[in-house]
Amino acid sequence: MKIVRRSFCSLLAALLPVFVIAQQNTATPVALNKIGDNIYEVKGGRGANGGAFIGKSGVLLIDSKMDKQSVDQTLTEIRKLTDKPIRFLVNTHSDGDHVFGNRFLPESVVFVAHENCRKEFFHPGRNGEPSSWNAPELAPYIPSVTFNDKMDLYIDDKKVELWYFGIGHTTGDIVVYFPDDRIAFMGDQVFMERPQLIHSYKGGNSFEHVKTLEKMLATLDAEIFCSGHSDALGRDMVQAHINKTKDLQSRVDGFVKKNYSLENLKKEFNEDQAGLVETVYNELTAAK
Ligand SMILES: [Zn+2]
Repeated sequence: MKIVRRSFCSLLAALLPVFVIAQQNTATPVALNKIGDNIYEVKGGRGANGGAFIGKSGVLLIDSKMDKQSVDQTLTEIRKLTDKPIRFLVNTHSDGDHVFGNRFLPESVVFVAHENCRKEFFHPGRNGEPSSWNAPELAPYIPSVTFNDKMDLYIDDKKVELWYFGIGHTTGDIVVYFPDDRIAFMGDQVFMERPQLIHSYKGGNSFEHVKTLEKMLATLDAEIFCSGHSDALGRDMVQAHINKTKDLQSRVDGFVKKNYSLENLKKEFNEDQAGLVETVYNELTAAK
């Protein structure tokens, strides 16, 4: 029996790489989804939804997906619309599904991000593993232009505003805003289909996240909010996300005040909320 089990395990181990490759190949191909005047969502491939602005003199990309095939497919789609160079790549934050593909873009691209996002490129992973971005040959693909609160970029006469509203999902999430079109790309600052991810290990914080989003809504008159992991949202949906997060926080707070253990407290919520519940619990108990 033991031998059978062992050979089954080695069979699994042998098949695993094939399975992983098969999974990579089954990602839907990258497609550009037009949402404004020369503004596109970059969907599909491996990694998060990104964005593209196709100007007369060049292209601005938002986030870079996470493997070479997806970057190549993105460039192929862009080439169907323009032969002008990719001038800027703006990273909305430091997660691998938004930045790993930077290394497969031309070295001539100017990589732009929030100052904290650049720092987080070098942050060890959740399991303590060192960042792959420490490799010296990757230096040209790490953001070389950074900002603190706000910065504007221009492609021709198109103004693109980069805004930082504070800590939340990580410490360096930004919003890429096209004011003429009232379209905002906000990376992973709103998850719709599942509870919000907050990367505490990078310094993210759920209570700051709520304040950051409220500041975003109060500052920008955007109508469309593009998200890394769901279809584009309206203002009402962003507000609903804020309300839902606040509601979860106050429920967790109520149980903490009744001295619930984390384990018992989690039983009061849906299974998929466990991660966010634990984050909020840790924030509340650490603050005491
Ligand atoms: Zn993401």
